[in-house]
Amino acid sequence: STPVAIFCALTKAAMSGLLLKGGDYIETLSGIKTVAFDKTGTITRGEFTVTDFSVLDDTSIETLLYWVSSVESKSSHPMAAALVEYGMSHSINPIPENVDNFQIFPGEGVFGTIDGKDIYVGNRRIGARVGSEEVDCHMQFQSHEISTLKQYCEPTLVGVFSLADSCRSGVLEAIEELNLLGVRSVMLTGDSTQAAMYVQSQLNHALDIVHAELLPAEKAVIIENFKKDGLTAMIGDGINDASALASSDIGISMGISGSALANETGNAILMSNDIRKIPEAIRLARKTTRKLV
Ligand code: ADP
Ligand code: MG
Repeated sequence: STPVAIFCALTKAAMSGLLLKGGDYIETLSGIKTVAFDKTGTITRGEFTVTDFSVLDDTSIETLLYWVSSVESKSSHPMAAALVEYGMSHSINPIPENVDNFQIFPGEGVFGTIDGKDIYVGNRRIGARVGSEEVDCHMQFQSHEISTLKQYCEPTLVGVFSLADSCRSGVLEAIEELNLLGVRSVMLTGDSTQAAMYVQSQLNHALDIVHAELLPAEKAVIIENFKKDGLTAMIGDGINDASALASSDIGISMGISGSALANETGNAILMSNDIRKIPEAIRLARKTTRKLV
């Protein structure tokens, strides 16, 4: 296609809210075989609320909330904000200055020392780091919510939180549209299998493939594998998926995301955060490059 046609397509895409950082990405989009989505912040809003909470030993609720919210106040993960807010709603103010040795374990959780106590907040993986036994928790799922287990270890598990997030509107339509275009849709997440399957069920099982409990580096390896089958796009918010974005043929970052990193890593920015613009852009790119729509 002519430079003018490419320019028109770039402009059209930009007007619909997808900024492409170069004309070559029109060609890439026209040939996409697989679209991989990050879950948290991409398929879902990444706005969590704590729906349930229990203390498993004789630690007081106040102490536990103080520890958890103080450590989380140093994290920019979407779950962290919900945990801090939850503490505040119980009149517990986080004290970030009291947290020493703060450390982030991407895809696992966070760590900090408060008053000489080692505090880990995160999923099963972080539990395994400190050797806490696993607990079975029954969570009640409410409609349009996605829950995730939160474990708190000291070094045994002393608290469990359920967090809920919800799917962005238009995601199901977007995935159905990708199906019509013959493009495979995939979800990659560092969250639990249970949370991933819950999102899949909210989407009428429309996603072709779901991978859960992934570390950031594992997301990138999966992208490399999809690339063996054809051109692969990755859409993410930059939180624990920057290397997957970089590995893909076209990395698309969510526009209004918690992470400036994604905007730098990505080859495109989805300003509107409207996933439906992805199949729309593929259609436009195919038209522009005169491939069959
Ligand atoms: P996703 O792949 O869905 O975008 P992330 O890779 O950001 O998810 O996080 C994966 C998992 O790691 C979360 O579901 C959570 O269990 C854990 N996690 C990450 N950061 C934190 C944090 N600050 N506090 C607690 N848990 C966290
Ligand atoms: Mg993410």
